[in-house]
Amino acid sequence: MGIPDIIIAVDGYSSTGKSSFAKMVAAEFSFLYLDSGALYRCVTLFALENVFIDGEGRIDEELLCEALRSLDLRFRCTGGDSRAYIGERCVESEIRSMAVSSMVSRISAIPTVREFVDEILHKAGADGRVIMDGRDIGTTVFPDAQLKIFMTASIEVRSRRRYAEMTSKGAATTMEEVVKNLAERDYMDAHREVSPLSRASDAFVLDNSDMTLHEELVWLKGLIQGKFGILEQL
Ligand code: C5P
Repeated sequence: MGIPDIIIAVDGYSSTGKSSFAKMVAAEFSFLYLDSGALYRCVTLFALENVFIDGEGRIDEELLCEALRSLDLRFRCTGGDSRAYIGERCVESEIRSMAVSSMVSRISAIPTVREFVDEILHKAGADGRVIMDGRDIGTTVFPDAQLKIFMTASIEVRSRRRYAEMTSKGAATTMEEVVKNLAERDYMDAHREVSPLSRASDAFVLDNSDMTLHEELVWLKGLIQGKFGILEQL
């Protein structure tokens, strides 16, 4: 029997380990993994490269929203991984830079940007067997998702993870900068007008501050077995 063709929505604050968890689950169950934050990061990179954001951080929303029509965003998904492209150009490393991180929450608060990204996500998730992570997947993008998870972890654990991730990719940053960026994004993501980050009332909370990835998988399998009445070992 195995796992049904469901949509798994994973939401939570920045650096709570959503993407590591979602990638592992996608690889385990042969699901498609979609990283919605990567799309907002791509739009931000596009805005920076095309100078819709000036040196002072002012955004020309009108020009950006008009230009979105020509923005060709794609995902290439393989074996639980997902890589973001603008046209034929893989932008995975550029979109993780501090320059993008420090603007992305302001870009993602623009309603037209959210509509643009939501359309891509809806198409990609239409056939199910997908795990998608972000801030509003279980509340706005797929409110009918059959399984919703809200991830949390302590700010210390999140900052350490984020710092290790960034420095391992050669990014020049400091712990102070990382902590400040996480706090700012958390605040903006939870307080914006359109689709703010919040836990769907039917989401299961996963606090992974003291859990290994393997323990997270065991937890999820138990949850799926209980929720979908699956008796066999997953
Ligand atoms: O997940 P990640 O940290 O890469 O997301 C980057 C930013 O994109 C978030 O801080 C948030 O501002 C935005 N985002 C969003 N809605 C989503 C996913 C990400 O607003 N579903």
